[in-house]
Amino acid sequence: MFLTVLGCSGSIGGPTSPASGYLVEVEGMAPVVIDMGPGVLGALQRHAVPEHATILLSHLHADHCLDVPSLLVLRRFGPRSTGLAKAPLVGPSGTAYRIGVASAEVPGAVDDLSDTFEVSTWDVAPELDLRDDDDEVVLHVRAGRVNHPPESYGLRLTSTDGRVLVYSGDTAYCEELVELADGADVLLCEASWTHEGEHPPGIHMSGLEAGRVARRAGVGRLVLTHIPPWTDREAVRAEAASEFDGEILLAEPDLRLDI
Ligand SMILES: [Zn+2]
Ligand SMILES: [Zn+2]
Repeated sequence: MFLTVLGCSGSIGGPTSPASGYLVEVEGMAPVVIDMGPGVLGALQRHAVPEHATILLSHLHADHCLDVPSLLVLRRFGPRSTGLAKAPLVGPSGTAYRIGVASAEVPGAVDDLSDTFEVSTWDVAPELDLRDDDDEVVLHVRAGRVNHPPESYGLRLTSTDGRVLVYSGDTAYCEELVELADGADVLLCEASWTHEGEHPPGIHMSGLEAGRVARRAGVGRLVLTHIPPWTDREAVRAEAASEFDGEILLAEPDLRLDI
């Protein structure tokens, strides 16, 4: 299983990175894109055929989903649109409606995505099997609720050879994430601010808290992501290192890890 960072800038796109988006590849399987914030579709074109991708959304904040309407345009009208099968699009409840509103041409309208995407939701089906070209299951996905204002999920991806990638999505520190990340080979974890100072509760984590999740979950490697342009990346890394003594990486566009 390979993880490629498409975008990792927290809350908004930044001067050197799109907003949140991550490509997961397993041999023989259609590419999987986790989150699709502004700028991610452009970065995806460097690494995969976007129309082939399965899209998994952690939540529906703009910085995690607002390139999906552009992917809809590409799938519906682009040069490879003829005969294109629907792509799986999985997200929180309301995904079809919210992306439909964002894709509509006139105020008050809701674009019908059903010609283009096969939409399902984590609240109804929190577990998902992804298959290869021979219809063998090669990746199992489990979504777990995390602590962030809208309905938000962390994702645990397990390959058939037992490798595990966990993505925190956006979340405050919570036991649900520690449980979801248990023993993961790689934890791709948000860290949106440094620990000092006043922060509103129930939204994001500091670098220190991300490191604490990694230590308590006993993960192999920690990749810090969703750091906004105004937050000191090295300070976030140092905080995480004060809690977690394993390898710590800062996400950056095109970072590719063999998990
Ligand atoms: Zn975010
Ligand atoms: Zn968010």
